[in-house]
Amino acid sequence: MKSKRESNARFRLVLTLGLAVVLPALTLIFVNYQHVKSIQRDKKVEALIHRDFQYVLTIGAKKMASKAYGMTEEVRHAFPSVDDPDDVKRKKLDQIVQKNPWFTHVFLYDAKTGIVLEPQRDLMNEKEADESGKMYSAWFNLEGGYLCGQLRRKPKPIMWMAGESQRSNGLVYTTTAIFSFPEVAGDRVVLGGASFDPNYLKEKFFPQLFEELTSQSFTNDPEQVHEQGFLELMPKAAIEHPDQKLAMIVYPADVLKAELDRPLAISPGWGSGKPEVTYKLDDPFHGLALGIKFQGTTAEAISRRWVWQSFLILAVLSVLMIGGLVLTYRSVNKQVALARLKSDFVSNVSHELRTPLALIRLYAETLELGRITTQEKKNEYYSIIRKESERLSALINNILDFSRIEAGAKEYDFRETDIAELVRTTLDSYRYQIEQQGFALEEHIDPGIPAVKVDREAIARALVNLVNNALKYSDNEKFLGVRLYRDQSLLKLEVSDRGIGIDRNEQSRIFDKFYRTCDPLVHNTKGSGLGLSLVRHITRAHGGDVEVESTPGRGSKFTLSLPLPNPSTT
Ligand code: ADP
Repeated sequence: MKSKRESNARFRLVLTLGLAVVLPALTLIFVNYQHVKSIQRDKKVEALIHRDFQYVLTIGAKKMASKAYGMTEEVRHAFPSVDDPDDVKRKKLDQIVQKNPWFTHVFLYDAKTGIVLEPQRDLMNEKEADESGKMYSAWFNLEGGYLCGQLRRKPKPIMWMAGESQRSNGLVYTTTAIFSFPEVAGDRVVLGGASFDPNYLKEKFFPQLFEELTSQSFTNDPEQVHEQGFLELMPKAAIEHPDQKLAMIVYPADVLKAELDRPLAISPGWGSGKPEVTYKLDDPFHGLALGIKFQGTTAEAISRRWVWQSFLILAVLSVLMIGGLVLTYRSVNKQVALARLKSDFVSNVSHELRTPLALIRLYAETLELGRITTQEKKNEYYSIIRKESERLSALINNILDFSRIEAGAKEYDFRETDIAELVRTTLDSYRYQIEQQGFALEEHIDPGIPAVKVDREAIARALVNLVNNALKYSDNEKFLGVRLYRDQSLLKLEVSDRGIGIDRNEQSRIFDKFYRTCDPLVHNTKGSGLGLSLVRHITRAHGGDVEVESTPGRGSKFTLSLPLPNPSTT
């Protein structure tokens, strides 16, 4: 009946835990697992990173174009008038070249008067300047009118001539702006031009832009992320790594084979390897491509790490959940078992109270009726009444002490006590009962035990409990040994018997409240399961502890260890 109630309680518990906690938690973990799996399968983290890379590249390309256009516009506005005499034109163009050292040459072409080309002296010699001038003249003589017409139709009257050309130092990339002047009358063919220094592009122009673009790299500062906009949608994994810097490269796009062997410019931290995302540049840098990647890592590695971390978190969560579940289950199991022990306790105690009371009443009534005539018989009855009432008060004392301990209200009255005398008197009051029950008492108290500060009554009660147990749980060999001795800095009080003993598995539990072992003899013996828990509480309150050594069928030895006040004085 009892066990059925218990298993019902357990079943209800498992059901409640299952429905209220485990099922939702498992579902959540499973859904998350599937989600992470799908992110992994569809390479969503990489896709997000690549999309943002694309965005950075688009912005980068725009910035490059607008910077090149801006620089060209600036010189275009400073160009001399087409009607200036040649020497004035030359002087003004010379000024422009000096002010803008990033142009290898600038020129002004007029179909009527020809071309005036001003080189950057330290970048281009007379001969090269002359050849270039001739090349432009020949071209514009043929197509100048057409070009002017084209330029007039553009929002900005600038077009670009970009590509690689053979120079004395090998193949170099440069770009030249060719522009018209809207203020010049429509039918006149007048063109200006400025050509960027390939070295300047390689060493200043691109690196500066790279720095601008890569310095505001992936960050975990939310405000910055917000400002940058393009990082708003970055997967958390990337944002969470503030040192995930970007690296960029510019290289000739049309050189298909081994194009990365000769990049035009790379940002610091590029290392080696291919860009993750590339973008073909248009005018003014037609023929070039822009590439981007992370410094020292790849989107794939970040994604892998993110997925791995997510799985790890899910695994930890699952383990925690299972751990929590096991703990809860065990603690509830304990409560259920405790509840059972309590109910056993109530029935045991009522039984224990009833039996001595019934005996006392029976013998007192018999005596009262005056039927007992012999003094010997009377003495026997008196002794039974005394013994039973002693048992009763011991039990009631145990229960009272226990309830005080449970309520946290148990107080001890520590006083300097001659503990040897305390043990002796306590045993004296039991000696008769011990001998009556046929026990051989072996008492050994070391001489010279110093006085100790203890609660007299509590220590006596602990001893009485141990002695009572020894008497209760002995069947064949009736022996009771009590020893009081010093062991270094400890005072030891030993109570041993040669009784039924205690199974090894149960030895640690007998000190728990209400606990009684499974031995059949124990079940036939009255008891509340409180005695040893009181003994332990009392010894611990004195700064000591209680231990048991026992072999089933051969007996038990309980040892109280109490600390001696000052070992050096003894
Ligand atoms: P009880 O009122 O049942 O004796 P205790 O707390 O004193 O309660 O003891 C708890 C249990 O420990 C007992 O029920 C018994 O099973 C076991 N026990 C205690 N002392 C002894 C002993 N000397 N020999 C064998 N078993 C013992």
